[in-house]
Amino acid sequence: MFQQLPLHERLLRAVEQLGYQAPTPVQAEAIPAALNGRDLRVTAQTGSGKTAAFLLPLLDRLVRHPDHRKGARVLILAPTRELARQIAKSVEQLTPFTFVSAEAIIGGEDFKVQAARMRRNPDILIGTPGRLLEHLESGTLELGDVEALVLDEADRMLDMGFKDDVLRLAQACPDSRQTLLFSATPGGDGLAQVVAAVLRDPQELVI
Ligand code: AMP
Repeated sequence: MFQQLPLHERLLRAVEQLGYQAPTPVQAEAIPAALNGRDLRVTAQTGSGKTAAFLLPLLDRLVRHPDHRKGARVLILAPTRELARQIAKSVEQLTPFTFVSAEAIIGGEDFKVQAARMRRNPDILIGTPGRLLEHLESGTLELGDVEALVLDEADRMLDMGFKDDVLRLAQACPDSRQTLLFSATPGGDGLAQVVAAVLRDPQELVI
C-alpha cells in the first residue's frame, strides 16, 4: 500500500487518482531509502516504475519545504528528449494538488525561450545533458540551489557519449546535494567511474 509510505498526503492523493494500487518493487525499496536522504545507485529495468521511485521522495521534500525564491532545487538528467518529456509528464501527473513547478530543457527547442522559462525559477529542471550544459556555459543556468540530482538511464547516457557533460553538470551542483543514479544494466567501467565521481556512500539496490 502506498499509504504506508511516509509520503505527503497531496502526493498520495495523486497516486490514488492515477490508479496505482501498490508500489512496484523498485518503488517499495527506493522511496524509503531516498526519503532518508541517502545517495542511491539503482539497477532496474525501464517499465519498473522507476520514474515515480525517484520523483515521489524528491517531490515530498518540495511539498513539505517550499521555497519559490530559489533556483532549481531538483535537476534530472535523461539521455533523450523523449525520456525527458515523459519524466516531465510524470511530474505533472504527480503534482496536481501541489504548487511544485517543473520545466523540460531539451535540445531542438528555442534557447532564449528556455532561458526565459528558467528565470521563473521552476523547482525542477528535467533535461538532456547537452542542452543543459550549453545553458550552464552561457550563464542562463545556475545550479547553486540544487538539493537533489537524478541521473536517469545513466548507462544509456554514457553509451550516447554524455559522460563528460554529466560530470560537468554534477560538478556545478553543490557537494551537499543528494544524488540518485538509475540504470537498466550494471554498466561497465565508464558507469563505475561516474558512480565514484558523483555519488557519496551510495546505497545499492538491484531490483
Ligand atoms: P517507468 O518504469 O517509470 O517508465 O513506469 C512504467 C509505467 O508504470 C508508467 O506508465 C507508470 O505510469 C506506471 N506505474 C508506475 N508506478 C506504478 C504503480 N505503482 N502501479 C501501477 N502502475 C505504475
